[in-house]
Amino acid sequence: MDAVITGTEDRNFDGGCHCGAIRFRVKGPLRQILMCHCSDCLKLSGTSWGASAAMLDHLTYLGTARPRWYRSSSWAERGFCADCGAQMFYRRDGRDQISIAPGAFDDSDMLVVAGQIFRHDHPSWGPVMPDDLPDLDTPQDGKV
Ligand SMILES: [Zn+2]
Ligand SMILES: [Zn+2]
Repeated sequence: MDAVITGTEDRNFDGGCHCGAIRFRVKGPLRQILMCHCSDCLKLSGTSWGASAAMLDHLTYLGTARPRWYRSSSWAERGFCADCGAQMFYRRDGRDQISIAPGAFDDSDMLVVAGQIFRHDHPSWGPVMPDDLPDLDTPQDGKV
């Protein structure tokens, strides 16, 4: 995994949705956050979205509730709580990683931002990004 956050290897991180129905535990390493300004993220979250990531098989659910999955594009789907609507996960088809919204973690102080993608879609009113925040777009679109 690229851009691993030092110190998150072999540690467990708990999180969940706003209403508490969905609880999860993910084992590190965690990836640095990518901020995304694409039109899918804007429509789904209302503003720019961002996500850390972990290995898909390092994620376990602690209760019986599971996210509902919404196919947001032909290459990816997003997991959210059907009760409170919290958007927690992004899963790209065929990838062994899962993206996790930073705010879904109970404690997110260990996370850092690596960069942003889809800067060209950043709305004029969008969250202010540091001028020196790297653009990390690759030919693989939608890698949040
Ligand atoms: Zn919920
Ligand atoms: Zn996006």
